[in-house]
Amino acid sequence: MLEKPKRVRLKGKALSNLNRAIHNRDHDRCVICGAWVNPAKKFHHEPCGINRSDEEQKGVVLCDRCHYIRHNGPRSAVIRDKIRDYLRKHYKKEAQ
Ligand SMILES: [Zn+2]
Ligand SMILES: [Zn+2]
Repeated sequence: MLEKPKRVRLKGKALSNLNRAIHNRDHDRCVICGAWVNPAKKFHHEPCGINRSDEEQKGVVLCDRCHYIRHNGPRSAVIRDKIRDYLRKHYKKEAQ
């Protein structure tokens, strides 16, 4: 039987700590276009929707513009693939 992937749900201080960790990792910059993003802005979950999980390796910093495109319209999949790529490369590098 296939095991369901565990999803993490954080609240309050734990969630803002995670947000800060993701912003630190991405240097407060949108991982797609490099624009500066206010540290108070909440990170984007990748994957998002029902499979989202509050984990550092499943979140990225996006600016408002790229975030909007990620969730709306025909270029959504392009942004999604770039984010996946970014996260894959980032955590592969750290594992070595
Ligand atoms: Zn952007
Ligand atoms: Zn999002």
